[in-house]
Amino acid sequence: MSFTISAPVMQAPAADRLEIRDRAVIEVDDRGVITAMEDAASGQGRSLAAASRDHHEVPAGHVLIPGLVDTHCHAPQWPQLGTRLDVPLEDWLFRYTFPLEARYADLDFARPVWADLVAGLLAHGTTTAVFYASQDRAATTALAEAVASGGQRAWVGRVAMDHPEGTPPYYRDASAEDGIQQSARSISEIRAVDAGRGRVAPIVTPRFTPACTDELLRGLGALAAAEDVLVQTHCSESNWAHQYNLDRYGMTDATALDGFGLLRPGTVLAHANHVTDADADLLVQRGSGIAHCPLSNAYFSNAVLPVRRLVGKGVRMGLGTDVSGGASPSLLHNAHDAVTVSRMLEDGVDPTRTAGPDRGVPGTRIDTTFAFWLATKGGADLLGAPIGLLEPGRRFDAVLVDTASRRGSLRTWPGIDTPERVFEKVVRLAAPADITDVWVDGRRVAGSGAGEGAGEGAGEGAGPA
Ligand SMILES: [Zn+2]
Repeated sequence: MSFTISAPVMQAPAADRLEIRDRAVIEVDDRGVITAMEDAASGQGRSLAAASRDHHEVPAGHVLIPGLVDTHCHAPQWPQLGTRLDVPLEDWLFRYTFPLEARYADLDFARPVWADLVAGLLAHGTTTAVFYASQDRAATTALAEAVASGGQRAWVGRVAMDHPEGTPPYYRDASAEDGIQQSARSISEIRAVDAGRGRVAPIVTPRFTPACTDELLRGLGALAAAEDVLVQTHCSESNWAHQYNLDRYGMTDATALDGFGLLRPGTVLAHANHVTDADADLLVQRGSGIAHCPLSNAYFSNAVLPVRRLVGKGVRMGLGTDVSGGASPSLLHNAHDAVTVSRMLEDGVDPTRTAGPDRGVPGTRIDTTFAFWLATKGGADLLGAPIGLLEPGRRFDAVLVDTASRRGSLRTWPGIDTPERVFEKVVRLAAPADITDVWVDGRRVAGSGAGEGAGEGAGEGAGPA
C-alpha cells in the first residue's frame, strides 16, 4: 500500500555535498518507489500530505537518512566477527577463515547464522549488502532465502575457488569446470528465490586470483557476460596479494582480472589499496569500482586507500565492512573509520619524520559527508542501483535515527548543535539503539518503531530495481 511520511532528511547527493531538509514529505508507491518529495512547509508538501490516505508524521528529534549500502561483506565470517585479526591475510585465511567457511556445507549450521546476520545488519541500517556467501552452492542459496525472508536487499555470490595451492583440499571446487557449473546453477537458484521482486540478485564471485586457476577466472568472466550479472572479487588488497599477481602474471591484479573479462560495469573490487594510476584509469574505462574497507585495511592491507584521489579520477567507490576482516558490522562505524584513516594518511603516522610531505600525503583527507556518500550513493552508483538517496524515482530504502533518545551514545543539545553537527553525530555515533525504523522497498523491516507504522502493511513489492 502506498503511504507518505514526513521527516527531517539528511543525505549526500555528492561526495562534497550535504543536503539537509528541515522536514520533507515523501510519497512512496506500493512498489516501494519514491514518487514525490516536497518540503513539508511548502504548498506542494502540505497538499501531498493532505491527499495521502496513509500519512505518517515522524516525531521531532528524528532524522531520516538513505539506507546504507555495504559493498563488501563475507556472510560466513559472521561468527568470528571481532576476533582473529592477529596474522597476515594469507595465514588468516588458512588458519581461521577457510575452516569456518567450510562448515556451511551443513545447512543446519548455516541457516541460523544467515538469519542472525541479516537481522543484525538491518538493525545497523544496512538495507543493501553485497555478500560473499560460501563455496557451497546450497548454503549460498540458503543465504539468498534468508535475505529474502528478512526483507533486505542483497547481491549474493557463491564463492568460486579451485586453485590447488591457494585453497585447502576440504574447501575448494572439484575443478575449474565444476566451479563454473556450480556458479551458473547458483545464479539460477538465486533468481528463483527472488522470483522477480528485484531485491536479491546473484553476483559472480571468484574469491581472488590466488584461490582461482586461470581456467576458472576465464570461465567466470564469460559467465558474467552471458548471464549479465555483476562481478565481485578482491584486488591488490595487501603487499602480498599485489606482488602475487606481479609474480604470476607479470602484470597488476586489475589488469589480470580485465584479461579474464572480469572488469565489467559494476564490478566490485574489494580493497584495491595497491592499485596503480594505470589500474585506476582502467577501472574508470570499464565502469568497475572499489569497495573501500577502512577498518579491515588497517589490519590486513599495509596501506591506506587514497580515496579522495581515486574518486577525483572518476573511480566508482562504495564502502564495505568486510565482515570479518573488519571487526564492526556497522557501515556508519566504517564511515567514521574512513574519515579517521584518511586523516592518518594525510598527516602520516611516524612522529620521527618531519611533519608535512615527508610524513604524510597532503590533500588526502575526507570528511563525514564524503564518507557518508561512500556508504550510500557512492555504493549505489557503483552497483548501478536506484537506491542510496531519497528522491523521486529511487527506492524507499531508508533509516530513521532518533537523535533525542538516551538509549544509545548519540546526544544532541539544543542551542549548541546545528543540523550539520547533528549529521556528523549521526555518522560517528548512531548505533542500533538509536535506529528506530528501517525500510527496504517501502517495507518496514527492522527497528523499534518511531516511524508511526509507515510501511508496516506494505506488500512484497514488484518489479526489478
Ligand atoms: Zn573480503
